[in-house]
Amino acid sequence: MTQEELFKKLIAHSKEYGFVFQSSEIYDGLSAVYDYGQLGVELKNNIKKYWWDSMVKLHQNIVGIDTAIFMHPKIWEASGHIGAFNDPLIDNKDSKKRYRADVLIEDWLQKQDDKIDKEVAKAKKRFGESFDKEQFLATNGRVADIRTKRETMNEAMVTSLNDGDLEALRQVIIDCEIACPISGTRNWTEVRQFNLMFETKIGSVADEANTIYLRPETAQGIFVNFLNVQKTGRMKLPFGIAQIGKAFRNEIVARQFIFRMREFEQMEMQFFVRPGEEMIWWNKWKNIRMSWHRALNFGDDQYRFHDHEKLAHYANAAADVEFNFPFGFKEVEGIHSRTDFDLSSHQKFSGKKLQYFDPETNESYVPYVVETSVGVDRMVLQVLSASYKEEKLESGESRTVLRIPAAIAPVKVAVFPLVKKDGLPELARSIIDEIKFDYAVQYDEKDSIGKRYRRQDAIGTPLCITVDHQRAEDGTVTIRHRDTMTQERVAIVDIKRIVEGEVSMRNLLDKIEL
Ligand code: ATP
Repeated sequence: MTQEELFKKLIAHSKEYGFVFQSSEIYDGLSAVYDYGQLGVELKNNIKKYWWDSMVKLHQNIVGIDTAIFMHPKIWEASGHIGAFNDPLIDNKDSKKRYRADVLIEDWLQKQDDKIDKEVAKAKKRFGESFDKEQFLATNGRVADIRTKRETMNEAMVTSLNDGDLEALRQVIIDCEIACPISGTRNWTEVRQFNLMFETKIGSVADEANTIYLRPETAQGIFVNFLNVQKTGRMKLPFGIAQIGKAFRNEIVARQFIFRMREFEQMEMQFFVRPGEEMIWWNKWKNIRMSWHRALNFGDDQYRFHDHEKLAHYANAAADVEFNFPFGFKEVEGIHSRTDFDLSSHQKFSGKKLQYFDPETNESYVPYVVETSVGVDRMVLQVLSASYKEEKLESGESRTVLRIPAAIAPVKVAVFPLVKKDGLPELARSIIDEIKFDYAVQYDEKDSIGKRYRRQDAIGTPLCITVDHQRAEDGTVTIRHRDTMTQERVAIVDIKRIVEGEVSMRNLLDKIEL
């Protein structure tokens, strides 16, 4: 199965089993907006809990808040979003398709890397044991040409983005000979800036003063509450404020399912530190966040860091955690050293002091900030794409299984009566009554046990319990494990302990290296 096929299957599977639906589907949908179904919302809530607990439970110096989506419009002037939250857009005149200029170039850069990888693979085959990759890269003429052009174009892109020079950015597209994937032509318009914030009006009078924005990130709600939390929580530096909430961006290139949405959810934590200590904390948080992702057990090689060459106006260091999605390595999380930009700017625009009095040094200052920002929806996509497997079984049958880490699986346990009589349904329900307070449980009595297993495999349920007639004799039932498909006979009194051992969130949280 190619990665493209996998992605298509994943989207179909997500819909078929109630994870993700297109928004407003009966009205033909709304582009880049999605709804979560009955299982999607459970998965999403579990991911959020995994993040929230890893922040506010595992760290006594991190607290959570929940701020409003609507905020005073001046906040977005202070944050730089009104002036600089733009995407550079370019249209192809023949296909009339619109693209992000930087994304077109980044795709081209990726293609050059792929070409180099192909050359290396070919040479490796040719030279066998004696192949020296470094020497090959340094000496092969064709590879050297590709590399030189790639580096020149990359530098030109970074410089033009940093300088806001749209003409130069367009020139990079021309120089790379990038053609529109739809029309195949290089008939491009000028590059224009496009602001990503959604506007709306507050109150009843429709004049300019009443324009407000749907927040494009949750972070600003944290910054403007910095002193409220610091004072009422008696927080001492270094400390963090965490928040989970909706954000809105009028994304132009809206493809790739829930990877890029116009309404999405973020999990952000702003960590306030002493000026000068931000690099230590930036590195520390990079490691902690990578460990949080890797604890999901999808394979360490499925993640990598990407350091930003073009820094946002507020940052002095930035790295992304990238995950290997079916469409390649792409950002799931950003870890940014935001300096004192936001607090200082809000101080200036609001006229209110946003400083911290440091009892150790007897000084007041504006703290520096290290931010971790991860998309809930990109996490859902990460989990679904890493978990989806089509497996051939020894019996010759096949199964589709979501190998979702047990702690975040939408349904933890399914309970089946072997048959619909002899008191077995009642017994199955009494087991559910015991565990339903702690775990999401499903009851299923339809079809053969094999078919019921397949249904639970397809939604990623880690444990299935079957109640059969032996229960009356010795008080036991069978538990079947999703990943190994092994079954064991266990005493009913032990069920709670066994489930807890397998699906507890603690199993995941324990693995994070803090
Ligand atoms: P990209 O370069 O992919 O547009 P970004 O660098 O603008 O992302 P940030 O502003 O750093 O993203 O936002 C932090 C996180 O929020 C991202 O890592 C991502 O997980 C999530 N996110 C951002 N934009 C979207 C979106 N349109 N849809 C879904 N998630 C998003």
